Amino acid sequence: MRDAGKIVAMAHQEIADAVAVGVSTQMLDQIAEDFIVSQGATPSFKGYGGFPASICTSVNEVVVHGIPSSLKILEDGDIISVDIGAVINGYHGDAAMTHPVGDISEQAQTLLKVTEESLYKGIEQAVIGNRLSDISYAIQSYVESNQFSVVRRFCGHGIGRAMHEEPQIPNFGRPGHGPRLKAGICLAIEPMVNMGTFEVTVLEDKWTTVTKDAALSAHFEHSVVVTEEGPLILTEI
Ligand code: MG
Repeated sequence: MRDAGKIVAMAHQEIADAVAVGVSTQMLDQIAEDFIVSQGATPSFKGYGGFPASICTSVNEVVVHGIPSSLKILEDGDIISVDIGAVINGYHGDAAMTHPVGDISEQAQTLLKVTEESLYKGIEQAVIGNRLSDISYAIQSYVESNQFSVVRRFCGHGIGRAMHEEPQIPNFGRPGHGPRLKAGICLAIEPMVNMGTFEVTVLEDKWTTVTKDAALSAHFEHSVVVTEEGPLILTEI
């Protein structure tokens, strides 16, 4: 899990360096795929349920599962959420980040900041003895106290030998419910936060998910293991 997580984290670093005005999302996909393969790993997303690329690139009102394209060129003021998964020696890592492209609005900057902070609020709750929904509640209450909304349609998830394992981790809900957390449980925690309504629409390609009101959306994710010493983030360098 550490190896997979480290490769995902390093791939994100490559993407962070590459995101710029004029770059296509297809180019980012190629960079990430080449890097993952160079590390002896395999992109987890490619072919998953028929997904046609190695990473998800979700620009502006696209919430998640955006398909990289040579026709999608990043413009000044965009935000782009990049989700990357890799598998090595039978174990997966999964993480997402949203990047500004050039100069973004102050409101967009706040959205990115609050979404990333909400991820860490969730991670803080990934401790032995807590219930799963303590993570959900921490994320939702932080996001909503900042006047943004959390997407209901998609959740975080367990991760390990498969990219998506039980349990599902909603980014909303009352605290104190669900399984009690034990040492060794690996979770991919991933708030998707919208500037307007939490409602989303899946487009005809059956992947691209957009906000119903076309307002901006951000996404941050880490794979985390619950340990005796507290939560350990696996998808960090
Ligand atoms: Mg995930």
